[in-house]
Amino acid sequence: MGTRQTILSGMRPTGKLHLGHLVGALENWVKLQGEYDNYHLIADYHALTTDPDSSRIWSNSIDMLLDWLAAGVDPARSPVFRQSQIKEHTELHLILSMLITAARLERNPAVKEQVRDLNIENVSYGHLGYPVLQAADILLYKGDLVPVGEDQVPHVEIAREIARRFNNQYGAVFPEPEPKLTHFPRLPGLDGLEKKMSKSAGNTILLSDSPEEILKKMKTAVTDPLKVRRNDPGRPEVCLVYRYHQKFNPSGSAEIEAGCRSGALGCVECKATIAGVIASHLSPFRERRAHFESRPGEVTEILADGEARARARARTTMAEVRRAMNMG
Ligand code: ATP
Ligand code: MG
Repeated sequence: MGTRQTILSGMRPTGKLHLGHLVGALENWVKLQGEYDNYHLIADYHALTTDPDSSRIWSNSIDMLLDWLAAGVDPARSPVFRQSQIKEHTELHLILSMLITAARLERNPAVKEQVRDLNIENVSYGHLGYPVLQAADILLYKGDLVPVGEDQVPHVEIAREIARRFNNQYGAVFPEPEPKLTHFPRLPGLDGLEKKMSKSAGNTILLSDSPEEILKKMKTAVTDPLKVRRNDPGRPEVCLVYRYHQKFNPSGSAEIEAGCRSGALGCVECKATIAGVIASHLSPFRERRAHFESRPGEVTEILADGEARARARARTTMAEVRRAMNMG
């Protein structure tokens, strides 16, 4: 297993990825894949927690994988795999589910938020257990570091608690995983600073959007309500477009800020500038996506290879788990 630490991080296959996924997590995956042993999971079982319809999971998984590859995930270094194809996830999930109380899971703020946002009336047993399955995902690879967005931090905390419980009960098998945030752990969506960019909120820019689509969407972005006309002074601190400048246009953001405050810079121009910057940032992504899109056989091979490597690692851990529990 070597001396390098392990990264485990995944995403639910809900289709094409948006800037929030990139800025909150994916960027760190790519950045850290030289330093750590990375494993990246397509959380297809997790997709069922909020919607049992499985008919689009395969196409959504491929769409997401294309975005991962487009963003620079290198499958030779970082195995990519579907959770559902490694049986050990369900096995470990069952064992870990005995090590946490239902009350603890009911207090989980992330599930509470999801229930509110998606108007779910009654939470299923499986949905409540979302973080337990996620703990199994992480611990199966003995993940040390979990690069995620801010909304996922409570889940990683639950994985830490479960790892401690297991180690106390049966012997030291698991590291206590730590979350790893980026400088922008919560990117707001186009509809204002309050909501994070999220597919379900319909406030996204996709990594695969064309420059024209990016500009069109950016024009709808909510800006400072007190800056009505071009020459009105604006308040960058309440403007999400300025937030995007800080992230994607760091060298130009001081000038944007000054122009906005003085009123010299209008919102239309400010939005066109950032749309252009984002489009060129994503231009190599679009090229790589097109490359893989035209080679579906290569993509399924990448997945098969990742699944074989992940399975080997998962089997090794499960053997250790069984030995520790005297259930060999
Ligand atoms: P969506 O909210 O768009 O439906 P999702 O909830 O299905 O997406 P997840 O699998 O929960 O997607 O998220 C994948 C990763 O991306 C997580 O680490 C999450 O924290 C991160 N992430 C998602 N949206 C944002 C955002 N707006 N800002 C920062 N990180 C984000
Ligand atoms: Mg989410």
